Amino acid sequence: MVQGRVSFEREAPIPVPGTGEAIVRTTRVAVCHAAADSIRAPRGPDRTLGREFVGTVERIGPGSGPGPLRGSGANLVGKRVVGSASRACGSCDRCRSGLSGHCRDRRTLGEPGTEGCFADYFTVPVSSLVEVPPGIGDDEAVLSSTFAAASHLARAVPISPRILVSVIGDGAVGLVTAALLASRAETVRILTLRSSAAMVCEKWGLRHRPAGEAGRRHDQDLVVDTEGSDSSMSLAVGLARPRGMVFVSRTTGRAGGPGPSEDVCGAIAELELTVRGVRGEDFPGGVAILAGGSIPVAPLVASRLTLEQVPGCVVDPGFDGMVKVIASVPPPSH
Ligand SMILES: [Zn+2]
Repeated sequence: MVQGRVSFEREAPIPVPGTGEAIVRTTRVAVCHAAADSIRAPRGPDRTLGREFVGTVERIGPGSGPGPLRGSGANLVGKRVVGSASRACGSCDRCRSGLSGHCRDRRTLGEPGTEGCFADYFTVPVSSLVEVPPGIGDDEAVLSSTFAAASHLARAVPISPRILVSVIGDGAVGLVTAALLASRAETVRILTLRSSAAMVCEKWGLRHRPAGEAGRRHDQDLVVDTEGSDSSMSLAVGLARPRGMVFVSRTTGRAGGPGPSEDVCGAIAELELTVRGVRGEDFPGGVAILAGGSIPVAPLVASRLTLEQVPGCVVDPGFDGMVKVIASVPPPSH
């Protein structure tokens, strides 16, 4: 990304890994809503975009062995890996108190200040990498962050077979979360905002209906709002039964959603709802779900491109970023 526009460079320097970092040679990337938004409306300093990847560890920087960093970096050299785009500083008060997910200096691959993965090589903290088992292909592995976020969210939700569950929002994470919950409860439905999501639901056998037709009957034991907007939260409290639970996670990165805003705080008090925010990723869990093969990834993939074709694709107004574009990165010539 250069001076407010996105460009494709044929030759880029190979980065040097810092302390605790690995150099990863990229083989696949996925275009999420955030990357698509950055391509459509670039902002911030010049940098390489991209946050979802699968690649092979080429080299490890200093200080990546056993110790305060998780895992042994040396063991990962030559291995196929996926990993979190989010990196914590490791030294602020929150990181030191076990709240690294809420680091005061949290950085994200491809966001201002951090080079992203839309490149032949990029650097990433060794501690954020997870090895990909041989049974998972690159086209599946590159969706690991979606499955990692859904795994984390689904684990946070206390579910039992006979409760009524509604999932609001139909980004890729919302869809996978609904599929995971549907494997543990009989009555899980997803309230969709986009026709592309309804097609995924059909292929996965998920109950679904348009969010606008959900009604507000206060009969759901548990509502999982994966949009995390004011209006989706308004819908969530309209669906939840008295003393029900609402889990909120912003997985699409977008505000906006179904229905008009209501008196959300008033409804929470009136109905004695329990509301909990959830954010984070469970990469080992996500990779394990992919390895299990119970959720076919093909319906989540809108198209396959080369990296060079990505900018032209996502500026198309028809691209909503809710299902993924996968781009392959051919072996570098240098
Ligand atoms: Zn920190």
